[in-house]
Amino acid sequence: MEYEPVIGLEVHAQLLTKSKIFCGCSTEFGAMPNSHTCPVCLGLPGVLPVLNKKVVEYAMKMAMATHCRINEMSSFARKNYFYPDLPKGYQITQYALPLAEGGYVDVETEAGRKRIGLTRIHMEEDAGKLVHDEHLPSSYVDLNRTGVPLIEIVGEPDIRSAEEAAAYLRRLHEILVYLEICDGNMEEGSFRCDANVSLRPKGQEIFGIRTELKNMNSFRNVQRALDYEIKRQEYILESGGEVVQETRLWDDTQGVTLPMRSKEEAHDYRYFPDPDLVSIRVDETWIREVEGTIPELPLEKRERFIREYEIPPYDAGILTTSKALAEYYEDVVKVCGKPKIAANWVMGDLLRFVNEDRGDIRTCSISAVSLGDMINLIEEGTISGKMAKDLIQDMYETGKPPRAIIEEKGLVQITDEDALTGIIVDVIRANPTQLAQYRSGKDKLFGYFVGQVMKATQGKANPQLINELLKKKLDQA
Ligand code: ADP
Ligand code: MG
Ligand code: ZN
Repeated sequence: MEYEPVIGLEVHAQLLTKSKIFCGCSTEFGAMPNSHTCPVCLGLPGVLPVLNKKVVEYAMKMAMATHCRINEMSSFARKNYFYPDLPKGYQITQYALPLAEGGYVDVETEAGRKRIGLTRIHMEEDAGKLVHDEHLPSSYVDLNRTGVPLIEIVGEPDIRSAEEAAAYLRRLHEILVYLEICDGNMEEGSFRCDANVSLRPKGQEIFGIRTELKNMNSFRNVQRALDYEIKRQEYILESGGEVVQETRLWDDTQGVTLPMRSKEEAHDYRYFPDPDLVSIRVDETWIREVEGTIPELPLEKRERFIREYEIPPYDAGILTTSKALAEYYEDVVKVCGKPKIAANWVMGDLLRFVNEDRGDIRTCSISAVSLGDMINLIEEGTISGKMAKDLIQDMYETGKPPRAIIEEKGLVQITDEDALTGIIVDVIRANPTQLAQYRSGKDKLFGYFVGQVMKATQGKANPQLINELLKKKLDQA
């Protein structure tokens, strides 16, 4: 029997607000354990939470960017469970009335563009962190993270393969980072994903029994975990068994998923409306206000680059992977007016420099204006493409603009015909054997002469001009 995987993802994204969702404590990562806490986020009795308006705004941005409907009225609920990382004994989240519902994102798959539905986006608080001592049989509790704002993005079970799941996650990640509402750091847990997966015989409507996978902290691991889990379930079904509904943990070193706990049901959590918080009302005015702050999103930008700059979709894809890179590219084009040439330099040499020192385009020592001007220098014939390769290296190392380096090093391309002709004549005179061979029909030696002229001019001669003049001289009897 052939089986089809059915996958639905739940993504948690930490919002980049300065303070927590229900108190004024800082959300900064990596501080001294328990230094960012107060009676509210510690869950001491008698305190009252107050909602951070920025959290609602950020969540609204994501909802709009993913075509969700924002509910005019939404509210918070208590999700009750006991665990030491949650001192109150419940997590404040949204349940019956989430902030937003019914959106979608489009992803590129092998079979073309595919639309993946979003069930809902809701706001909630994060829990603390348990730190386990390697040497002692004890664990510590760090409550800096309790109360840090999250949005949960619940996806429809529309995904049909591990690759599609990864593409979907990349798309969500990209949008969150573009919106500047999440730093997207998967290792620090700012962007986390639980994956639900089940199999069903091909052609069958109803879904099979699912497992929920946790503990994957990279796109690659989500894909690996899903691939493994699909195979595991396939094996169970093929041998006549039944998949157990449970939560499983991805083990990165062994490359397997392992059972963690039987799947809890919603009623186990005893959800009920939080009596300490009033409902959230979002009116049209607020929606329009937030809408006005949404930047051009990656997919739109990609399409505009293809249209406006007439660059290949592949280039447009790379150049829009981050907002900063896209801005840099557009600035280069503004200076030089050569979109495809600019794309080649940005994607080639420049990104190589940036990646080499795990850098950030925003702090790159070559400014967009410098790179654009370097392209101008090539286009106007002041330097050759070959000279530019060395020049850009210098620009990167010194941070100086290209014209300053050219002046310092006397790096000007020889475009003067008489000067170049003189050099060519010298080169021909110095190579009588090659000249004789060339004239007797060994055309390939032309390249040899070009090389010799390049060498004599230290690469400063305009290659086109060399070709032209050399041809003339060599063919002159
Ligand atoms: P819970 O809150 O218990 O995790 P939900 O019903 O809210 O359960 O579903 C959570 C996620 O599971 C959603 O992303 C949904 O798309 C996905 N999902 C639901 N049923 C299945 C299934 N049979 N196979 C795969 N994914 C599923
Ligand atoms: Mg779940
Ligand atoms: Zn606090």
